[in-house]
Amino acid sequence: MRSLALTGALTGALLLAGCAATGTEPVAAFAAVPPAPTNAVPPQFQYLYGSGEGGAVALGVFHSLIAYVTEQAAKRPTDSVVLAADSAMRGASWAPCGDKPLAVVFDVDETLIQNLGFEARAATGEAYDQARWSRWEQSGDKAVAAMPGAVHAVDDLRKLGVTVVFNSNRSSANAAGTVAAIKAAGLGEARHGETLFLKGDDSLGSAKDGRRAIIASRFCVVAMVGDQLGDFSDLFAAVKPVAERRDLAIHSSAAGKWGKGWFIVPNPVYGSALAGDQDAVFPADKRWADPAEEKK
Ligand SMILES: [Mg+2]
Repeated sequence: MRSLALTGALTGALLLAGCAATGTEPVAAFAAVPPAPTNAVPPQFQYLYGSGEGGAVALGVFHSLIAYVTEQAAKRPTDSVVLAADSAMRGASWAPCGDKPLAVVFDVDETLIQNLGFEARAATGEAYDQARWSRWEQSGDKAVAAMPGAVHAVDDLRKLGVTVVFNSNRSSANAAGTVAAIKAAGLGEARHGETLFLKGDDSLGSAKDGRRAIIASRFCVVAMVGDQLGDFSDLFAAVKPVAERRDLAIHSSAAGKWGKGWFIVPNPVYGSALAGDQDAVFPADKRWADPAEEKK
């Protein structure tokens, strides 16, 4: 490879010398030279981790959360925002609050925490590897940051007397590393089994409904916050077609919860939102033919 690159560089240099003599640009000649490593970042990573726009969206969500929970805490709701165990998504029923203490349930990754150290590697094209992710859970606490607005949100909720509960699909085997990452991000203390619930706490794997039911049996959950539909209900996971899943999210009982008990932050980098081809994403009756192309 090295000799090939050297050959390419020499060829380019020779062509450049030739072009300098003729005064033309050597664009085509250099296109054949293997590209040098770049510092480029794919757009979805730019948006989530680097842009003012992405940060502003997160802040707006957390501001709305604080306002909503402040209002709810003052009047004590009768219903939790966790679906009742036997409920469907359409015509939903909700877990009762009773006189349980108030709580807000947060997902962790890309909801409260930006996994900057891990995602910087993914942004270079490194394929996801479960064993590497597990090592990240154990040792990544120095390379995370809170999502914009997250520290403000959990601080305000705690001042209101609302318990902050974390429900994450990080592994229960790595609980100590996740407790350290939450603390390092400035999000305070998390206690496994009390205010931190993890994959492996039960036999349901990545499904969170079992953990949500336990949390709702102990708390009146006034809000949930996540970056995936699975952070709100496992019922979404049963619906595979992209258009049907979107319909369930925006034309069911869930529709009334967005921004009013269910708060979602966008994640364009990974997760269940990133599915669908042209036929699934764009309706057939909403295609457009450019008149300029039709004239050809
Ligand atoms: Mg997440």
